[in-house]
Amino acid sequence: MTIKGHFVSSFTIYNLAMAFNIAILNPLFALGLFLGTAFPDIDEPESWIGQKFKFLSFLIIFVFILFKILLIPIYFLNNKAYKNLSHMLSHRGITHFLILPIILFCISLFFTQIELLKYFIQGFALGCLLHQTEDMLTAGGIKGWLWPVFPSARFTLLPSILRFKVGGISELVFIVFLLFINVYILFHFHFQETIQHYHFFRMEYI
Ligand SMILES: [Zn+2]
Repeated sequence: MTIKGHFVSSFTIYNLAMAFNIAILNPLFALGLFLGTAFPDIDEPESWIGQKFKFLSFLIIFVFILFKILLIPIYFLNNKAYKNLSHMLSHRGITHFLILPIILFCISLFFTQIELLKYFIQGFALGCLLHQTEDMLTAGGIKGWLWPVFPSARFTLLPSILRFKVGGISELVFIVFLLFINVYILFHFHFQETIQHYHFFRMEYI
C-alpha cells in the first residue's frame, strides 16, 4: 500500500475508535501511531519514511546485510534455516512481521512510570501493526507475517480478486471511500457534540 493509503487507513481506525469511545485523543499516542504507520517501510530507502530518515534507513539495511554475511555458514549447514533467517532481513521482512509490534508493546510496559513515553511506544506499536494489516490488503500480502511460525506462508486479508495493486486504481477508490467515512465520523460523532453544546449554551445564556 502507498503511504497515503497507510495514513488514511490508520487515521480511519483511530477516528472510529474515538467515535465509539474505545480510544481517546492522546497527542503522543497519535504521533506514535503516525510514525509507526510509516515505519515498516524504512527498509526501503525510496519509501516516504526512508527518504525522511535516510540515515536510519541505510543503517537498517547495513545491519541486515551484515547479519546476512554472518549467516553464510548456516547456508551450508541448513539451507532452509538460512532462507528463513535471510527473509527476516529483507524488504517486507522483520519490520512487516507481527513480532515487531509485540516486542514494542512489551518494551512499552517498562515505561509505566514515564506515561508519555509509554503512550508514544504503544501508538508506534499499533501503527506498525496497522501498517502490516493494511499491506495484507494488497496483492502480495505479507510472506511470513507470523515469523518464526509458518515462515513461508503468505498472509492476506482478502480473496485475491479483491486485493489491490499498490498505487493502483482500486487503492485510490479505497482511499476515497475511507475519506468519506472520516467526513461522516467527523460530522456525525465529533461535530454533532460540539453543535449540541453550542445549542445548549445559547439556550442557557441567550
Ligand atoms: Zn509495507
